[in-house]
Amino acid sequence: MRLTVCCTDTKIPPWLEGLRAALPGAEVAEWQPGAPQADHAVVWAPPQRFLDEQPGLKGIFNIGAGVDALMKLRLPPGALLVRLDDAGMSAQMAEFVCHYVIRQFRELDGYEADTAAGKWSFRKPRSRAGFPVGVMGLGVLGQRVAQALAAFEFPVRGWSRSGKEVAGVECFAGEGQFDAFLSGTRVLVNLLPLTPETENILDRRVLSRLQPGGFVINVARGAHLVDEDLLSLLDSGHLAGAVLDVFREEPLPAGHPFWQHPKVVVTPHTSARTLRDESIAQIARKIRALERGEPIAGVVDRDKGY
Ligand code: NDP
Repeated sequence: MRLTVCCTDTKIPPWLEGLRAALPGAEVAEWQPGAPQADHAVVWAPPQRFLDEQPGLKGIFNIGAGVDALMKLRLPPGALLVRLDDAGMSAQMAEFVCHYVIRQFRELDGYEADTAAGKWSFRKPRSRAGFPVGVMGLGVLGQRVAQALAAFEFPVRGWSRSGKEVAGVECFAGEGQFDAFLSGTRVLVNLLPLTPETENILDRRVLSRLQPGGFVINVARGAHLVDEDLLSLLDSGHLAGAVLDVFREEPLPAGHPFWQHPKVVVTPHTSARTLRDESIAQIARKIRALERGEPIAGVVDRDKGY
């Protein structure tokens, strides 16, 4: 069995070494133009030429959960497109989101500013009931985040395309329930995949439906958010703040208003990193299953785009 690795912006040798150890007997090599046809590929942002030269791939394993960049390319029609299925990302995402929700809820920025100025003072504790958190996307990451927030006893609501039942989470589904989801939400967490249907979804119409003092945490993709609409709702005071981990252009260009905005926290697309060892173990397990003719989880539905 031949495995080719084509990952841009990635240190390749440790992936080759790990995949060789996890799949003894497989021929594992970094892709070069003109390389022989492989059975499976491990990819991150591959060039179109790679896909054009590998029309016989059975599996294309993306080393991330989001496949929006891959969906813009011409893919070999017969290949299964497989995304990372958690592989250590959901715990990171839950930590990240809970950290910022709690920071906001407990006014920890204010406390830190006070004590830095030598001031020992208290704020009136906020009510959890007044701090409902809404999670857009109840997939692998969204469900884990929603449940982690529910464990802190925040009122948690979630929105997805199809109906879900998640313990401790009030679930909404589809366009028809979107407004009800939004109007009961104060802190909005975006964990949708980027598809033609969800691009620009965080616009003025949607963000202005949040409760006053609304707070936005975008950890999915930059193109979900209409930057100008967020800025104007922050400046008008309808929104209290935003934490942005993802941007239309990454790295976020110097001079972008998000960098200096007093109500915006910028993090460098780091909320849930790909963990190499976990990812290699998962991909190797799935390749072995495919080779045995067994079904695997995490196969992308090309029509839905995620
Ligand atoms: P999943 O595919 O497991 O879940 C996607 C969820 O979004 C599903 O619940 C799905 O609904 C819902 N959804 C999709 N389209 C719509 C729609 N049009 N309307 C309503 N709901 C919709 O994805 P993951 O949870 O694994 O990951 C989510 C995204 O997080 C990734 O696509 C990626 O962009 C981003 N990400 C960001 C990272 C970072 O470091 N910042 C790291 C990893 C991922 P249904 O269940 O009904 O299909």
